[in-house]
Amino acid sequence: MPFTARRAALRALLPGAGVDALLVTDLVNVRYLSGFTGSNAALLVHADGDDRSRICTDGRYATQVAAEVPDLAAVIERACAVELAKRAAKLSVERLGFESDVVTVDGYEALVEAAGGVPLVRAPGLVQRLRAVKDAAEVEALRRACSVGDAALAELLEAGGLRPGRTEREVALDLENRMRAHGADGPAFPTILAAGANSAVPHHRPTDAQLQRGDLVKIDFGALVDGYHSDMTRTLVLGPAADWQRELHALVAEAQAAGRAALVPGAEVTRVDAAARDVVERAGRGDQFVHGLGHGVGLQIHEAPYVGRTGTGSLAAGMVVTVEPGVYLEGKGGVRIEDTLVVRHADPELLTHTTRELLEV
Ligand code: ZN
Ligand code: ZN
Repeated sequence: MPFTARRAALRALLPGAGVDALLVTDLVNVRYLSGFTGSNAALLVHADGDDRSRICTDGRYATQVAAEVPDLAAVIERACAVELAKRAAKLSVERLGFESDVVTVDGYEALVEAAGGVPLVRAPGLVQRLRAVKDAAEVEALRRACSVGDAALAELLEAGGLRPGRTEREVALDLENRMRAHGADGPAFPTILAAGANSAVPHHRPTDAQLQRGDLVKIDFGALVDGYHSDMTRTLVLGPAADWQRELHALVAEAQAAGRAALVPGAEVTRVDAAARDVVERAGRGDQFVHGLGHGVGLQIHEAPYVGRTGTGSLAAGMVVTVEPGVYLEGKGGVRIEDTLVVRHADPELLTHTTRELLEV
């Protein structure tokens, strides 16, 4: 079970945070540490071990929590965070850490009251820090999510699903249905399908606009598999590409390759961003690359580390990040190319395998 190991890794961080237990109230973090997938839960992870740790959920999930989390004692109560804070003293907690980046002001006041004399200590971001480096089970889930995305796009293209006359909405839905048919629980996020001038809008929402011959078509999409998200962008042309489309695509492809090559353990995230951005800037298009280079991906579609000009920290082996430069010519069209990769001591491992060549369909 990876969850035991993840809780052990969290325990190792508790002394540094000045606490002997952490009250985990972020549901994604609860899932990461326990495997529980219900919609109401909290977790108390005690430094002494699992015997003094507890998971809490409400009556709707009594059966589910026993099945998903057989290795922790479960408390069944609706107000989970408050209930676990109440039990802190009995579990010999002396300083109770809480996720101050998650708990609301009202929630904090309720916790203080519930904890009685046990002091509450801010402990933000501890689990997110662990989640940034993926274990083998997570990489495997991400690999499967990415391969569902690859398969669905290949099938869409083979079936002639990308053709003039179809609307952005129709094609996006078609792609999402194919991901489900390949085993996804759903799309990882609402599919971005942007044709013609719309491709210049980085996060365009699909409309009833019809695809036309000569359009650039930007497709940014992913699959959700076992709670893990995949993320890939390809930009194609309907019919033969014009010279400006070919040049724009080649520029973004070059920047993307430079970004991928910069993915090494120890690299500062700002340097990784700069590796790709320099290529675009040298071409005089720096102001048309309007977002960061990439982001971590896992139980959330966007998570640590953030790879951009304003990011902080460095890459580590086992991080899974996207590399997604884009150049957008307003009113005309844009190109983004995005892959998801695992940072390794050797070359990064590519999880998204669809060709990056400019496809003319
Ligand atoms: Zn994306
Ligand atoms: Zn992305």
